[in-house]
Amino acid sequence: MAEIRETVILGSGCAGLTAAIYTARAGLKPLVLEGHEPGGQLSITTMVENFPGWPEGIQGPELIDNMKKQAQRFGASFELAHLNAVEVEAHPMRLQTSAGEIHARTIIVASGASARWLGLPSEQALIGHGVSSCATCDGFFFRGKEIAVVGGGDSAMEEALFLTRFAAKVTVLHRREHFRASKIMLERVIAHPNIELRTNTVVEEVLGVEDKEVKGVRIRDVVNGESSNLAVGGLFLGIGHVPNAEMFAGHIDLDEEGYIKTINNVFTTRNGQVVSGVFACGDVQDRRYRQAVTAAGSGCMAALEAEKFLEEHGR
Ligand code: NAP
Repeated sequence: MAEIRETVILGSGCAGLTAAIYTARAGLKPLVLEGHEPGGQLSITTMVENFPGWPEGIQGPELIDNMKKQAQRFGASFELAHLNAVEVEAHPMRLQTSAGEIHARTIIVASGASARWLGLPSEQALIGHGVSSCATCDGFFFRGKEIAVVGGGDSAMEEALFLTRFAAKVTVLHRREHFRASKIMLERVIAHPNIELRTNTVVEEVLGVEDKEVKGVRIRDVVNGESSNLAVGGLFLGIGHVPNAEMFAGHIDLDEEGYIKTINNVFTTRNGQVVSGVFACGDVQDRRYRQAVTAAGSGCMAALEAEKFLEEHGR
């Protein structure tokens, strides 16, 4: 017989850890399944300058580590496991995980979002051989090289700035004229002597598949349609994220891009009706804000609703 948990939290990023702090403090002894990317996006970022309470900023991994310790102090437990399948129709609900079957009275889905790729076969073939979506993880290997970064949002700007620590030159390739990045990040990039911005430019192919090493990228100017090669030793993708909600397809409502649909940020639905005991928070259900502090906020809300649900059901 699988053990029954009051609350199982899927994901150990900012949303999941905040939900863990709250549910643990409420005495629910939550179990956190850390997922494929323990610590979530903050664990692979650098300085977080906009999380309230840190006037000088704080390193993402340190912030995450602090949150985890805080949750553990109140009795949350952690398992390095991920979800394989879920049945939310039964009560308690059933989760098939890489660490065995678990039953849960409430589930908090905080599985976040993972890096998006361009989807080119040459890009996929060269992941780990010069193609990366994580500058903080892999930037070190590109010392002295020229690098291209794809994207026009804050992630791409952050990657470009970070990579200047190692790279001889960074070229940002963006498919449109205008940038989605915040003004402050864009200004830092524009002011940087080692970063060049190329707009209206798409990557057609990553060169170097035969050599198992990135040698360059074939790019196309979308205004005049001309293709050319750019010699670089590395390609970083900063083109956003896709939500990790596929395990819930068919069980709860997802939108056309795969985000979990929620009411009041946390209540999940099935055919528009609220699903008992399943709450979602953070980037897996937030296509609009996607900030550390909003993830933490919705993690808190999910935890409070899980507590309320259990109380109403006599727990
Ligand atoms: P984003 O804002 O959605 O930007 C994604 C960028 O990638 C866009 O410029 C988009 O182009 C481009 N893109 C998407 N798919 C593409 C494709 N197939 N080929 C080429 N380009 C593609 O995502 P993000 O930069 O990851 O940021 C997400 C959220 O996190 C934002 O709210 C951001 O403010 C926040 N964030 C903040 C910080 C910080 O404050 N330090 C750092 C990182 C992220 P289009 O513009 O043409 O759509």
